[in-house]
Amino acid sequence: LAKGRGRARYEVFDDDLRGRIERRLDTELALRTAVERGEIETWFQPIVDLQQQTVVATEALARWRRPDRGLVAPGEFIAIAEEVGLIKGIGTTVLGQACRAAASLEGHLAVSVNVSPRQFVQDDFGAVVKLALAETGLPPDQLWLELTESAVLEAIDSAARTFQELRSLGVRLAIDDFGTGYSSFAHLKSFTVDLLKIDLTFIRDLECSDHDRAIVEGILRLADSLKLDVVAEGIETIGQRDLLTEMGCRYGQGYLFSKPGPAVLPDVDFGDMLSSSSLIRPSPK
Ligand code: C2E
Ligand code: MG
Ligand code: MG
Ligand code: MG
Repeated sequence: LAKGRGRARYEVFDDDLRGRIERRLDTELALRTAVERGEIETWFQPIVDLQQQTVVATEALARWRRPDRGLVAPGEFIAIAEEVGLIKGIGTTVLGQACRAAASLEGHLAVSVNVSPRQFVQDDFGAVVKLALAETGLPPDQLWLELTESAVLEAIDSAARTFQELRSLGVRLAIDDFGTGYSSFAHLKSFTVDLLKIDLTFIRDLECSDHDRAIVEGILRLADSLKLDVVAEGIETIGQRDLLTEMGCRYGQGYLFSKPGPAVLPDVDFGDMLSSSSLIRPSPK
């Protein structure tokens, strides 16, 4: 009996593993033609000034419209694209779409584009960015590039030149998911960036965790003394927004204001601030 059960279990595991391998190969294969078939789309999520209640930028987020599967989130294909060497094409596609969309808007809205470590270490990355700006006419200071800490880490030797090139182009550089990588401070010492994005894992429990609040306060103080701007990611509640505003965090992003969507500048809901302040109208004299 025990033997039979063990065997059955083994087969279940085997089927599961085989299924996962097949799905992975299938994804890889379909991903190889995704760029040339125009299946990579760019969605956008606004980044807002918490005090002023204005939209200052919009983050470009890749989506893959698979004909047989519908819309696929980056969590399901970016890491694979990095592993099999397809991220360069996807990244360049998103960069182009993002710059074009931002350039088409009136006013001074910036677009913030995620850059994979694999893209960042490629020799011609500076040239790729320069070309995207030239082709779309987007002013360089309206392009922000989000590097993850691992990108900066992997790049520590080879990237100094790319870094300089990007700086001299005049684009703004951000560290994404700040606080989740190794030795964040070492990176701040070696590379001059303009902006930190506090990872949403530190924002999630802000209202109930003194611990997380202390971490966020620490990041804000650090950013302040280094004269860096800060964006808090993943703001979902009015309580989180209010706490961050009190702590002096200038910019935020999250479902509270707007979920990512296909429009470069969607309607943004700033929460209850406007309606609650309109309740305290001065009484007529
Ligand atoms: P990220 O750059 O840190 O982007 C933020 C992610 O958090 C996005 O997920 C966004 O939809 C999600 N998010 C925004 N507000 C909230 C919120 O209030 N609550 C919660 N729970 N989540 C929120 P998304 O679009 O699925 O992207 C996931 C990750 O995939 C991104 O994380 C980024 O690392 C990567 N990614 C997306 N597009 C690209 C790209 O074009 N190139 C590269 N290399 N990576 C990309
Ligand atoms: Mg990002
Ligand atoms: Mg992020
Ligand atoms: Mg993140």
